[in-house]
Amino acid sequence: MAEGKAEESRLDGSGAGAAAESKNFIEQLIDNDLKEGVYDRVHTRFPPEPNGYLHIGHAKSIILNSGIAEEYGGLFNLRFDDTNPTKERMEFVDSIKEDVRWLGADFEDRLFYASDYFEEMYRCAVLLIRKGLAFVDDLSADEIREYRGDFNTPGRESPWRGRSVEENLRLFEEMRAGKYADGEKTLRAKIDMASPNINMRDPVIYRVAHMSHHNTGDAWCIYPMYDFAHPIEDAIEGITHSLCTLEFEDHRPLYDWVVRECEFAHPPRQIEFAKLYLTNVVTGKRYIKKLVEDGVVDGWDDPRLVTIAALRRRGYTPESIRQFVKLSGISKANSSSDYSLLEYCIREDLKLKKPRLMAVLKPLKLIIDNYPEGKTEELSIPNNLENESLGERKVIFSRELYIEEDDFMVDPPKKYKRLYPGNEVRLMGAYFVKCTGYDTDSEGRVSAVHCTYDPETKSGTGFDGRKVKGTIHWVDAGTAGFVTVRLYEQLIDEEKGKLNEDGTLNFNKDSLTVLENCPVEPALMEARAYDSFQFMRNGYFCADSHDSREGKPVFNRIVSLKSSFKLPS
Ligand code: ATP
Ligand code: MG
Repeated sequence: MAEGKAEESRLDGSGAGAAAESKNFIEQLIDNDLKEGVYDRVHTRFPPEPNGYLHIGHAKSIILNSGIAEEYGGLFNLRFDDTNPTKERMEFVDSIKEDVRWLGADFEDRLFYASDYFEEMYRCAVLLIRKGLAFVDDLSADEIREYRGDFNTPGRESPWRGRSVEENLRLFEEMRAGKYADGEKTLRAKIDMASPNINMRDPVIYRVAHMSHHNTGDAWCIYPMYDFAHPIEDAIEGITHSLCTLEFEDHRPLYDWVVRECEFAHPPRQIEFAKLYLTNVVTGKRYIKKLVEDGVVDGWDDPRLVTIAALRRRGYTPESIRQFVKLSGISKANSSSDYSLLEYCIREDLKLKKPRLMAVLKPLKLIIDNYPEGKTEELSIPNNLENESLGERKVIFSRELYIEEDDFMVDPPKKYKRLYPGNEVRLMGAYFVKCTGYDTDSEGRVSAVHCTYDPETKSGTGFDGRKVKGTIHWVDAGTAGFVTVRLYEQLIDEEKGKLNEDGTLNFNKDSLTVLENCPVEPALMEARAYDSFQFMRNGYFCADSHDSREGKPVFNRIVSLKSSFKLPS
C-alpha cells in the first residue's frame, strides 16, 4: 500500500508534479534511489544512545524514520547505540523502549544493541589493519589533538603511522587482552592527515577503556568510536537509508569510507536533516540532564520538561506529537518550532475526544438566597457540545455553589460581563442568577457572593424572555470533590532571555503553581492516571500518573484553552 503511493508519483505523469512537491527532500532522494535501482527496498532505524531520556527532538527522528519505513512498505529498527559505557544505564534503555512504543513506532522484533556487534566491529578493525588502513598509535589524546591541526593548518602524521601490519595486529590484540592502560594506545584509521575534512585526518577508531558495560559486562576493555561503529551497525542490519541530524554532514565521507573499506556488500546511505528545536524550551539531553541532577525539576518526567515521558505525564497524546512533527516539517535548514504549535496540536487532538466538565480553580462561595435550603435538583448537561456522541451527565444543583474568584468583582471595569452587584449572568447548564450583594471577612476580602435565581430561565427549556452577556461555570458545594491542581509555565522566562548574566539558565520562578482543594464535579474524582478532560473555561487537564491515588486524583494542566497561535494558511 505504502509502496503504491511512491509508485504512483513516479509512474503517473499527470499527478507526478504535485505529488513530488508535497514530498520532503528525503522522500525525493529515496524515490530516486528506488528508481535508479540503488536500493530495491527501504530499511531505516532509530539509534539512540541510552544516556538519558528521549525528548521531543528524538520524537521527530523516531516519527520520521518509522514513517518512511511505513510509507515505502519497508522495515524500521530500534537500535541502542551503546558503544560508550561511561554514561549508559539500564534505566535509560527501558524508558527509551517505552517511549518509542508509545509514539507508535513499530519495530516489531527488531530491537538491537550495537554492543552485540562488538566482535564483528573488532573483525572489521583487523581487516583494516591487514589492508594497511589502520595502525596502533602511542600518542596521547593531547598529542593527537595537537598533531591533527585545524581548519587552516594541515595535520602532521603520527610517528607510529609506519608500523608494520604484523606489529599492528599484535599490538591491537594486546590492547584487547588488557595489556595497556586507558589512553596508552589507540587504533587509528590511516586516511589522510592533509584532508581539508578534519574527520578524515586519521580518526581514532578504538580506544582502551577499562570499564564495565551494561550489556557486555567486562568482556571488553577496548571500545569502538562512534564514527567507526555507527556505519558498521547500519551495514550489519541492512539499513538502506541512515537518517541523522546535520552535525554529521561532515562525518559522511568517513561513514562512506568505513562502509567501503570494511567491504560490506550492501552499503547504507547517510542522509542528514535539521534537528527540531523549540523556542524557549530546553531540548538538549545534556541540559535536561543537568536540570534533573541539580534538582531544579522533579525527575526526567517532570511535566515542565519536553522529554517524551514528561509530555506523556503532562497529558500529551502520541497523535498530537505526530501532528506537531508533521507540521514542523523536515528540512535541511536549522530553525525553531514554536511551542505554541505543540499546544495547538494537543488542543486540536483533545477538542472532540474529551468530556468537558466543571472545576473551579480559585473558589468563591455563591449563595442563592431564594433557592430553598435543603433542596437539590439534577440537571442534564451535555459532555461535549461539539460532539454529541459523548452523551450527557447529571450534575447536582443547589443553594450553595462555588464559582471562580475572578468571576465576581465588586467594582468591575467597563467591559466586565460576569458577576457584580446588580448584574445577571447564566450559570452554565443551569439558571440565570442576579447578584444582590456579598460578604466580606475581617480583612475586607470578599468571602461569599449573594444572588437570586430566576426559575423560569432553566437551561434547555427554551426561555427567551431576556438575554445575559456572561456565562460562568460552577460546582455544587454539597457534592463537590476536592482535588489538587497544578498549573505550569515555561521553565525559562521568555521575556528575560535564556541565560542570566553569569551564564546560568534563567528559570521562571512561576513555572509551577500548586492549587489545593479545588472543587470539582464528583465525576472527576474517579479519574485515573492519564485520563484527561476539558475543565470548562480553564483548559485541558490530565490526572497525574505519580501522585494520583484511587478516588483522589491530582490534575496537571496540559494546556489552557486560549491561544494566540494561528496555523499559517
Ligand atoms: P541531544 O542532542 O539531545 O544530546 P543526541 O543526539 O545526543 O541528543 P542520541 O541518542 O545520540 O541523542 O540521538 C538519537 C537520534 O536522535 C540521532 O539520530 C539524533 O540525530 C536524533 N536527534 C537528536 N536530537 C534531535 C533533534 N533535536 N531533532 C531531531 N533528531 C534528533
Ligand atoms: Mg549523542
